[in-house]
Amino acid sequence: MRIYVMTLFPDIFNAYIGESIMKRAIDKGILEVKLYNIRDFSDNKHKKVDDYPFGGGAGMVMTPQPIFSAYEHILKENSLDNPKVIYLSPKGRIFNQKMSKEFSIEGDIILLCGHYEGIDQRVIDEIITDEISIGDYVLTGGELPALVLIDSICRLIPGVLNRNESFEDETFENNLLEYPQYTRPREFKGIEVPKVLISGNHKKVDEWRLEKSKVLTRERRPDLWNKYIQKSDKK
Ligand code: SAM
Repeated sequence: MRIYVMTLFPDIFNAYIGESIMKRAIDKGILEVKLYNIRDFSDNKHKKVDDYPFGGGAGMVMTPQPIFSAYEHILKENSLDNPKVIYLSPKGRIFNQKMSKEFSIEGDIILLCGHYEGIDQRVIDEIITDEISIGDYVLTGGELPALVLIDSICRLIPGVLNRNESFEDETFENNLLEYPQYTRPREFKGIEVPKVLISGNHKKVDEWRLEKSKVLTRERRPDLWNKYIQKSDKK
């Protein structure tokens, strides 16, 4: 899978994607992340990329020309035909695991990171296929949201996680939050790990984990719990 990122701050990405599971996916050739600095595509002699909003108001708006030029360059350089183009925006649909799964089977995705007060609406109307928010709060730029998408999508691409790291049991799979996890030592500060986990009885361990998942979900996420119940009723 290839992810192309249009941003004013490409350096923000390298540290994060250069570590851990994403680094491994990139090294294995399963994931490629290509960064494009929108400023490089500005026709303005001072490489300006923003201007005052028509109609007045606070802040600056990203101008359409550099973004359009960057977009056209990406299409041409990578021979892309009709890729998904996601604008990270607090006004978008709230991102979740289901969307991440859908994106993880796309071959190519372009991400557009906004800054300042956002981007000229004509860009959104002309090239954006999806507007995605990572939550109901406003960040300075779309770079952290883009990294959130890349990280989450990357984990779901077949071959990225090995069997020990499988996402099948993780939170949000089957609309349940994950059960509590314990590791060595068996006793820490006088607190022992639940006996069932060291019993060697896999059936009992699975039952315990499912029960814990259910209790956590019911207490913390009634929205997910309702979905879980509805799905279980249909089975
Ligand atoms: N003026 C905009 C508004 O009120 O909707 C907010 C602009 S924000 C300061 C600058 C950029 O950060 C946005 O263009 C977007 O790319 C990104 N951004 C901020 N919050 C976000 C969120 N919750 N999810 C995704 N992107 C976000």
